[in-house]
Amino acid sequence: MSGTGRAAVFLGPGRPFELRELPLPELEPGAILVRVTLANICGSDLHFWRGDAPLALPPDGWIFGHEMTGRVAALGPGVRSDSLGEPLREGDRVAYCYFYPCGRCHVCVRGQRAACPSKVGRATGPGEFPHWVGAFAEYYYLRPGGYVFRVPDDLPDALVSPVNCALSQVIHGLAQVGLGLGDSVVIQGAGGLGVHATAVAREMGAATVIVIDQVPERLALARAFGADHTLSLAEVPERKARVRLVREWTGGRGADVACDFVGFPAVVPEGLEMVRHGGRYLEIGCISRGRMVDLDPSSLVWGTKTIVGVIMYDPWVIPRALDLLRRTRARYPFDRLVSETYPLERIDEAFREAEWASRAPDASRVTRAALAP
Ligand SMILES: [Zn+2]
Ligand SMILES: [Zn+2]
Repeated sequence: MSGTGRAAVFLGPGRPFELRELPLPELEPGAILVRVTLANICGSDLHFWRGDAPLALPPDGWIFGHEMTGRVAALGPGVRSDSLGEPLREGDRVAYCYFYPCGRCHVCVRGQRAACPSKVGRATGPGEFPHWVGAFAEYYYLRPGGYVFRVPDDLPDALVSPVNCALSQVIHGLAQVGLGLGDSVVIQGAGGLGVHATAVAREMGAATVIVIDQVPERLALARAFGADHTLSLAEVPERKARVRLVREWTGGRGADVACDFVGFPAVVPEGLEMVRHGGRYLEIGCISRGRMVDLDPSSLVWGTKTIVGVIMYDPWVIPRALDLLRRTRARYPFDRLVSETYPLERIDEAFREAEWASRAPDASRVTRAALAP
């Protein structure tokens, strides 16, 4: 394709993004060029930006971001349909996976595509084909074979942009951990993932949904998304007292399922303690390698507890997520999840606003800051 577009290039933690003009790529057979219309700042993006996730940064910087939606700008040779066989044309709105299960390994052949060890390749710089590898840019290059789904016209971008990360991630995670009818569930962290998980747990038949966070606005949002109980770290600073409250709310037993959507290892032992004997713990939040936590394994043995680790999701989840939004958008305020939208040139400001880890509990109101590139 001829022409150029703009991208926000990340040069490392603590440094401002650099806006660069980049060439549009020649499309390989099977590839799709997407014109990004909305790109959210996800919690994992904050880890990179902050510098608490290890990253081999390419020498000329990196375009990152992955939670996004857009329109088909150009279809590569041979592409006529989406991943469900529905006709796909230029201008169609799409939701898509930002990772690429290889299809040619033991794990993929076993049908566990989300667990494919090769689904995320090394980070490539903006100078290297296909240039457009992240969401914080005007274009995204969906590699050949990438999973893509046409978006129903009646869903606005603000609802669709969390689909390919937060929403699909929690649907897949809660399915993997076996959340079922009548279960009680503890959700640690009421950010984008936790709030989505609240509604998804409800829709999957959970009887009791408990959400824990430190930001009052986030807990209020969790209640609007169907939480039965919210637990404020500010109001109940003692871990023991929090565990006791969860037991009280779950018939004295503890929760059938607890989930880490916080991303700091320190919350894991507490979450495990909130799980009943024979219950399950879903670990999704902690993506930073090398961060440790003290854990007494005998509590797993004597408690007969299972930990389920999940990253990303199988592709079938995206159409389910889109369908969930259509069916339930009148029940939950999904439109409140993207709280602020910024143009691409204000990306530094957007990240500063989205940052919450180092702030006072009541300082952050932003659930998902979004860029409209
Ligand atoms: Zn994400
Ligand atoms: Zn594979």
